[in-house]
Amino acid sequence: MPELPEVETVARGVGRHIAGLTVEWVHLERKDIVYGHPAPLCAALRGRRVQKVVRRGKQVHLDLVGGACLIVHLGMTGKLLVADRDEPIARHTHLRLTFRRRRIELRFVDPRRFGRIWLILDAEPDGPWIGRRPPPVAADPLRISLADFRDLLNRDRQIKALLLDQQPLSGVGNIYCDEALYRAGIHPGTRAADLDASMVGRLWRALRRVLNESIAAGGTTVSDYRSADNTTGWYQHKLRVYQRTGHPCRQCGTRIQRIAVAGRGTFICPQCQPVSRRRGSGQTPRRRL
Ligand SMILES: [Zn+2]
Repeated sequence: MPELPEVETVARGVGRHIAGLTVEWVHLERKDIVYGHPAPLCAALRGRRVQKVVRRGKQVHLDLVGGACLIVHLGMTGKLLVADRDEPIARHTHLRLTFRRRRIELRFVDPRRFGRIWLILDAEPDGPWIGRRPPPVAADPLRISLADFRDLLNRDRQIKALLLDQQPLSGVGNIYCDEALYRAGIHPGTRAADLDASMVGRLWRALRRVLNESIAAGGTTVSDYRSADNTTGWYQHKLRVYQRTGHPCRQCGTRIQRIAVAGRGTFICPQCQPVSRRRGSGQTPRRRL
């Protein structure tokens, strides 16, 4: 499933190609992927100019001049591809947008159809609406302050479960959660409220670092993810624990283990991420990663 760096890469890639262009036509193959305002998509979007394309949480927002917005959630296997009009249309292409005086089009392809699109024409919360609302966008790990991050972690939950929950923090999934906890030297089963100030600081920095490194690498492709230009990311070659079971830790040489935390396969270095006792017990990792 695309996480924050993949969605950011897609938004930037799509924006590079279509920001400033005017929608010419909308080809919608599957009406059931579109929620939001009940206006027909083509009538609503035709002639509108794309102001900018941005990531908000794990959503791609096409902000259109005049206040309308097309929100895309990629789900598990969704792709937003910029293609030449002459390129063959792949199976499971549910939506295509063409643009005036351009040969490119934007295609939404999603074999498993967990992805969704929302049409927002006005900000009226009680206005006409079809389907469910887009998931709320929680705090962004790249923008949240250390103080707010500290407040957010003051909860009686395992740190991994808390980070994976898209509330109160958005965009962090299994890959970057495991990588950030490893870099911070924190065991994923630690109770969030038990993290001391230095651990919280290390985790805040580690999250930003792994997310920014992955964005710079165009994201992580472990199965379906592709950028807007249909290329794979390459951060999978930089991962330090995720799916590296049995390989030596790059810091201490101990073999990476796969355990279960929060119901998810979880990759740790048992040496660098020792099980932490409750706050004040004094057991913290010896080395910063
Ligand atoms: Zn280690």
